[in-house]
Amino acid sequence: MTELLLLDVRTLAFASSVSGFLMAATMFGIYLAGLRSRALIDWAIAGLGFGLGYLLGHILQTLEVPVPVWAVASLANSLIGFGHGMVLVGIQRYLGRRSWFWPMLAVVAFMFLSVFVLPELRESLRWRVILQSGFYILLGFYAGGLLWRVRRPGMRLFHRAAAVVIMLFAALLALRFGYALVSPALTTSFVSDPFQIGIFVVSMIYGYALTMALVLVLFREKQVELSDLAEQDALTGLYNRLSLDTIAEREMQRARERKTPLSIVLIDLDHFKDVNDRFGHQVGDRALCRAAELIERVIRDSDFAFRYGGEEFMVLLPGADRQHAEQVAQRLRMEMGHGGVRIDGRQVDLRASFGVVECGTEGASWAECVTQADRALYRAKRGGRDRVELG
Ligand code: GH3
Ligand code: MG
Ligand code: MG
Repeated sequence: MTELLLLDVRTLAFASSVSGFLMAATMFGIYLAGLRSRALIDWAIAGLGFGLGYLLGHILQTLEVPVPVWAVASLANSLIGFGHGMVLVGIQRYLGRRSWFWPMLAVVAFMFLSVFVLPELRESLRWRVILQSGFYILLGFYAGGLLWRVRRPGMRLFHRAAAVVIMLFAALLALRFGYALVSPALTTSFVSDPFQIGIFVVSMIYGYALTMALVLVLFREKQVELSDLAEQDALTGLYNRLSLDTIAEREMQRARERKTPLSIVLIDLDHFKDVNDRFGHQVGDRALCRAAELIERVIRDSDFAFRYGGEEFMVLLPGADRQHAEQVAQRLRMEMGHGGVRIDGRQVDLRASFGVVECGTEGASWAECVTQADRALYRAKRGGRDRVELG
């Protein structure tokens, strides 16, 4: 089989080395291009570790080296181990966790030095495989497990794809670990070891697949971040007006299909101009943020809060009928009117007026619904403010 494919360990080590260097160049290139994630640097270093490690492996089998073969082999394996370790370090940094850089480096150093002090390891490829692949396997399953378990909206598929790539490779190494445990044939050289050909073929592909999977994770993360930003109001962090129509149309459609109610509450702070006049625009801005926080605290996770205008907010309540929406509005009115908020030691009034409408009844359009809410709000203002009116 191997003769048929004409694959030999020597060439494959070289190909794996190229794959490692390409990983380094890709990661570093993307960093330079402007995606400034520290993880890219860690993964570039990982690629260098793989590249140098496999290159040494190749040289070892090709040229006569003036130093003991086992010493070079140990250095090569330690570099590859360091590469696997840096993949994990990058993943930890990407996830905002503390990295295991120093403990990982200590284990790699121990792996490198162990051949100098333990003659058994020098003579036995089998023990080297057991020690080293044991380390790679633990790193791989731990790193893959970390990615598999993260919960970030919109990221799941990408995290899991990367986790699968990493864990498949770890599983293959685990097979080899098992083989090394039971096979007495694996003693001095792996040139004739059939497993080794497979490992190198996969290592070569792994460099590419891993690069792809990790880079896609970072691109996706940026994409999710940007689309969140585009929907967000810069001051309050609520949804902005731009995203209102899209979300409203979607929720209207959903309400029609499921035959569930959908209501809106339009909110305008009372005499807010006075807040600015008395305390200045900056305090006014902070008061708006406090109002936004208060709204978010009162509504459910399935509701949407928008900054509708300067000091106007809108709450979209899927599943809520008129009565329920009125209750929410009254609760908001009470919380906002309850003594105001303290900002820089100053008491700022946050009272507001509310217009409540149940949408989607009798097939009214979104625009009609908003007009109704506007009218109700106007009535609340005319009626003396700090009150809720139904549309
Ligand atoms: P009322 O609604 O009760 O009739 O009185 P009001 O004083 O709130 O009047 P209106 O809603 O017409 O005015 C809105 C004021 O809100 C005008 C402006 O000073 C203030 N405002 C609007 N946007 C912002 C903002 O982003 N930051 C700050 N600090 N103030 C804003
Ligand atoms: Mg206003
Ligand atoms: Mg106002």
